[in-house]
Amino acid sequence: MQVRATHYTLVCPVCGGRYQDAAGSFLLTCPQQHGPALLRAEYTQERFCPHPEHSGVFRYADWLPIRRTLPGAAGAVAWHAEELGQRFGLDKLFVIFSGWWPERGARMETCTFKELEAQAVCARVENGWDSSLVVSSAGNTARAFHHACTRYDVPALIVVPSNCLSLLWTTSDVPSSVQLAVLDGGADYTDAIELGNGIAGTEGYYAEGGAKNAARRDGMGTALLAAVEAAGQIPDHYVQAVGSGTGAIAAWEMSLRLQKDPRYAGRSMRLHLAQNAPFTPMADAWEAGSRSLAPMPDGRERSRLLRAQVLANRTPPYSIAGGLYDALAGTAGAMYRVTNAEAEQAGALFQDLEGCDLDPAAEVALASLQQAVARGRIGKKDVVALNLTGGGRHRLAREKRTATLRADATVTLAQVQEHGAAASLASLRDTRS
Ligand SMILES: *Cc1c(COP(=O)(O)O)cnc(C)c1O
Ligand SMILES: [Zn+2]
Repeated sequence: MQVRATHYTLVCPVCGGRYQDAAGSFLLTCPQQHGPALLRAEYTQERFCPHPEHSGVFRYADWLPIRRTLPGAAGAVAWHAEELGQRFGLDKLFVIFSGWWPERGARMETCTFKELEAQAVCARVENGWDSSLVVSSAGNTARAFHHACTRYDVPALIVVPSNCLSLLWTTSDVPSSVQLAVLDGGADYTDAIELGNGIAGTEGYYAEGGAKNAARRDGMGTALLAAVEAAGQIPDHYVQAVGSGTGAIAAWEMSLRLQKDPRYAGRSMRLHLAQNAPFTPMADAWEAGSRSLAPMPDGRERSRLLRAQVLANRTPPYSIAGGLYDALAGTAGAMYRVTNAEAEQAGALFQDLEGCDLDPAAEVALASLQQAVARGRIGKKDVVALNLTGGGRHRLAREKRTATLRADATVTLAQVQEHGAAASLASLRDTRS
């Protein structure tokens, strides 16, 4: 189904500029000359209005910057987790879950909430879109975009560091519209982002945009909407593990939209966001009251120590207007540091109690909830949305056939540093036909 392209307008938080997506493109940045900003989608529908006739994320199509809805999409599920809540001393704990857990109605075959954003991005491009979307990833995003772009036949080039190859599996065996480029030689996620940036913008490629793509954010924001349907209100607290912070920015933006609906007005939502120690640049900056991140010369080394590798983003949209700093400031938010051991324990508790494995990042979120309660920042009677952003990977491996994705091209970090992205591009192009 094609949706009217006019149901959303992109609004700049710095200059107030208002824009429409033009045919054959989508807008990622404000064309005016000022500092960087995240363009936010504003929707003509101000009431929160789920559409049960559409599946997954498209249940919330009114609040997605999309030009079509797509069939068979997956969505996050949310429920009142009474037993888990009791363990934490909370009466009203609502769990949001993205992943594979059929008994809970969760059927996300790539097992993380990145699938929410990938599906929304696929719906932001029109039928017949032909340039390759360039997506950089530390693993989970690659899996999600590979799955969604293959399913909906959207051409894409995905760039990943080789240390995340073990995360690149698929349940699909149909021919793919996606190319996979692997960056070898000690590269990390940020290196993959830089290579992706170098390739995007050259002919035939189009930057997907990451956090700057409003479809990504609002796709992820549907996770909060599932919790709002389950709880019947905007939660008092929202808990999530953050790498880039995009998911948390998205939840904040959705809460602002909900506040414009008289049925949900009068409640604000506090963000509680966790990083995996010792990789905590945003927690450090936020607690120092700073809008800028301190340089982290040993960031690459630190990132290797993490149980939740996907949380190691060295260039998150923290300082940018409309980014994570603003989201924390706007919600009197709090940041947390969770060690590998704390995360592992939280994961074991969840597995015991609920019978499903969690993604390491979701374990970090669960452990941070424990900290928030212990510090008295969340009260017994408060309504809490805990976003468990991934899980069920081990269950899926037992219940479905999975195959490892094959690289279409491999380049080393040294090659890219020596010859630039353009030369690496040449080797990628050779494999494209
Ligand atoms: C990407 C990811 C996160 C972090 O999300 P950001 O939007 O990058 O902050 C958390 N959990 C899982 C499972 C992820 O894949
Ligand atoms: Zn602007």
